[in-house]
Order: sequence, then C-alpha cells, then structure tokens
Amino acid sequence: MMLAPTPVRTQTTRRTKIICTIGPASENPGCIRELLREGMNVARINFSHCKYDEALNRVKMLREARAELDMPLAIMLDTKGPEVRMFGYNKPVLLNKGDSLYIESTDKQPDDIPQLPPEDKRFFTNLPRINKLCQIGSRVLLQDGFIEAEVVQLHAEWPGAVTVRVLNDGKLKDKAHLAIPGADYPIPFMSDKDRKDIAFAVENDFEYIALSFVRTSKDIADVKELIKSVRPDSPIRLIAKIEDKQALANIYDIIKDSDGIMIARGDLGIEVPIEELPGLQKNIIKRCYLAGKPVIVATQMLESMTDKPYPTRAEVTDTANAVVELTSAVMLSGETANGSHPARVVNMMGRIIDRTEASIDYRTLARITHDYVDRDNITNIMAYSTVDTGHDWNARAIAVVTANGIGARALSKFRPSIPIYAFAHDEALYHQLALNWGVVPFLIENPEGQRFSEVAKKTMDLLKNKGAISNGDKLVFMASSPFGKGRPTNTIRCEVVGDNAFHDET
Ligand code: PGA
Ligand code: MN
Repeated sequence: MMLAPTPVRTQTTRRTKIICTIGPASENPGCIRELLREGMNVARINFSHCKYDEALNRVKMLREARAELDMPLAIMLDTKGPEVRMFGYNKPVLLNKGDSLYIESTDKQPDDIPQLPPEDKRFFTNLPRINKLCQIGSRVLLQDGFIEAEVVQLHAEWPGAVTVRVLNDGKLKDKAHLAIPGADYPIPFMSDKDRKDIAFAVENDFEYIALSFVRTSKDIADVKELIKSVRPDSPIRLIAKIEDKQALANIYDIIKDSDGIMIARGDLGIEVPIEELPGLQKNIIKRCYLAGKPVIVATQMLESMTDKPYPTRAEVTDTANAVVELTSAVMLSGETANGSHPARVVNMMGRIIDRTEASIDYRTLARITHDYVDRDNITNIMAYSTVDTGHDWNARAIAVVTANGIGARALSKFRPSIPIYAFAHDEALYHQLALNWGVVPFLIENPEGQRFSEVAKKTMDLLKNKGAISNGDKLVFMASSPFGKGRPTNTIRCEVVGDNAFHDET
C-alpha cells in the first residue's frame, strides 16, 4: 500500500507556532531570514547569557528581517531569574564518584570570592543558609542535573554549609547550576539584574517577557508594577515560566494572572521527579488552552539536532505529541542558539508539525470545547459560534478585526481546523499574535470610522494578494462594530469572496 505523501503547507496555514532562541549560531541577518522563512514565529533572547549591546544588535537584525520579509515576528526577552549557582573556582572541576564537596553559603558576588584550587573541593553558593534547606541524605543536583550528590554533613555555624558526596563522575563548569529538588529557595524572585532587564525590554519595545521561575501570582503582580513605573501604557505581555514545585502548586492563579505559560521542562525536570513531566505537560497545556491563554512547550525538543543532521525518533515523537496535546507553541533553545544548522532544525520542526496537524480532527475537538465557553464573556460566546459556523459552512477561514487581540485570542481558544486571519492595526499586537495557536496576523490601517463592508473588502483584497484566499471561498468574519468604539464583540458575518453584492451594504 502506498502512503499518502506529506502534505505541503506554508507558514500561513501552520497552527502550532515555533519559538527560536537566538544566540551566537543564529545572530546574523542571513540566518535570521532563513529561520523566518522556515517558520520562526517568535525569537527568544535569553538574558541568562546576553549583554545589552548584543541584545540590541539581535533586536535590530530581527526587526529588519521581519520588515523586509513582511512577516509578523514577536521578540521575547527571557529573564535570568533567581538562579542558584556554585562558584569560587576559575576553571572546570572534574569530579569523581565518592568525592566530598564542601559548599558554603555566601552573600558575596562570584567575582568577590577567592578562587580556590579545584583540589580543595570547596565551593560557594548564593543560596543562603544551605544547611537549613536540606537534611542528611537530601539529593543535590549539580550542573543542570548531570551530577548527583547526597548531603552527608550539615554545618550550622554562620553562614551555613553542607558537605555532599558525589554519586557519579562529571565535570563542573563555570558557575554551575545547583538544585535541591523540591526546596523553596529563599532568594528573591527578581534580582537587580532582572529589574534592569525587564525595564530594558519595556524601553526597547520587546513584545513579550518570559519570566523565569515565577512562583506565585504576586511575582507577576510585582513585574506588572515595575513595568508600569517604566512605561504605564506598555503593551508588553508576560509569559510565566513554570519551573518548580511552587509554581505547580499555584498554577491556576499563575495561568489567570499571566498572558501565557511556558512549560520550562529543563528546570522543571530537575525540581520534580523527571517521570512526572509528561503528565504535567499534558495537564498544563489543557488548562491553558481552555483558559484561552497561550502555552509553550520548551527544552530539548530536537536537542540532538544541535550538532546532528537528524533528530532522534523520540524527539520527533515528543514534538508531535506536543502538537497533538494542542500546545500553542514549541520552543527551540540551544538547537538554534548554538547549534550547527539552526534553519535545518526549524525546517524539521515545521515538517513534524505539519504532518501531525494534518492527522488531527480539529472539528471534533472544537466541539468538546463548547463546555468551556465563558458564559460571562460575549466575545468568548461569539468566538465559539464563529468557529462552529466556519466548520459547518466549510469556510476557508475565519477573519477577525481585532483592536486589542481579545477576539483573535478567543477564537484561538477553540482550536478551529481553519486559519484565523487576524487584522490588527497596532504593530505590537500584530507581532504578539504570532505566538497564538492558529492565528495568522496581518497589519492594517486603523479601521476606526470605516464601514464594515469597506474593511471586509480591504481585508479580503489583502488575503487575495497574499494568495491566502480566492474567489468563491467562504469567510466568517467576527468583529465589534462600529470599529474603534471599544464595544465588545457583536458581529458574526458570513461572506463569499468575490461576491460583490455585499459591498453596497454598511
Ligand atoms: P531556560 O528555561 O532555558 O531559560 O532555563 C527553560 C527551561 O528551564 O526549560
Ligand atoms: Mn529554566
């Protein structure tokens, strides 16, 4: 039996979005254009390893590329967050199973600490009173979980220290990450650096900030306050990264109070037993999309492609699985930041997404979401009806004229099988909507004061020019009319492309 060939799709019909981390391997104009052509929707700049001049250079290149290719692209700053580190050594330290390490708490900065010879096996950490956070026998994970150790002695005298025994051989790199799985680390959510970085994102018009190690809604409220103090009318949106147990305990509130969620599987897989990740991922995705919030699956999605031409079978299945679970976006980290062929990785990710989406019965799934319509919200109610109408009428697409993104995001919540063409006049919103599942953003002039039929005609001409629709195609429009009056959604209107009769109407 012959298998059907993989359907060829373009970026305009791909529903699941792709986030690429920009780093040394991708920070050049040629590579950025290739990433965009292959389907990058969001570019992430990780402020754990980035200086302001480097970031500004990347932002400039990204803006030039998206303008030149006439494509929406959201730019996201990812904060360093409250990281626990080891320091006090100036070159990598080789550790052997059975080694004893003395790890002492300090409030000094890494550069103000004497660099001790590695043979001393004496280290410092920015975690205060480390002896109070563990017990004899507690597990301590070093170097992103690659080295496991066990606490064998607690040292209560100020400033506090522990002795740990190493359980496997490994190499401790510069400022290695340290974790005591499950502990509530007593370090503030935002450091001075984080505050400066967040202000930098606001001042330089990034579209999103991803907040590392959000633990409570209060963390998000604090960031909102900081943003307000920098620029009260900033349109920047906040993605809460779920990376530890505390965030999981507060997940409902965090989803409610943020503009989206990232399932940060790297750190989460250290802080909770790694075998819990698949179930957590599935649940968080479902909670987010039913709440109408975008959700991102991150870390190691096509990790082996960092230096190899093909992914592993497990990675292909992992990416496909996230698509089946209806995630809004999948993220590439080192694969595009430091890898040997960033564009090839995005191409592979796109192929996996396209093939997987082609096998999903979105119509049936959308019907199940009926139970999750927010009955207190007319936009939500009408978005469900718009999707339903589009499906029943066999429409080519849904079109939404959206001043603030609420309509477009509501439509995305119901995961329609047809594209959501979103027409925004605000440039930040146009780029932000690139993250939302199924939404294809277009930039239009402000429709305020124009009649519905005028705007509908303009948007259809735009879609025709882009080759997205042709005469005879059916379109279901959703809007709030008259435009620009801040009214809630009040209109669903069905149009056949090229049918001139309707242009006489208002
Ligand atoms: P990071 O976040 O890459 O900034 O650490 C993602 C994760 O922890 O998975
Ligand atoms: Mn992380």
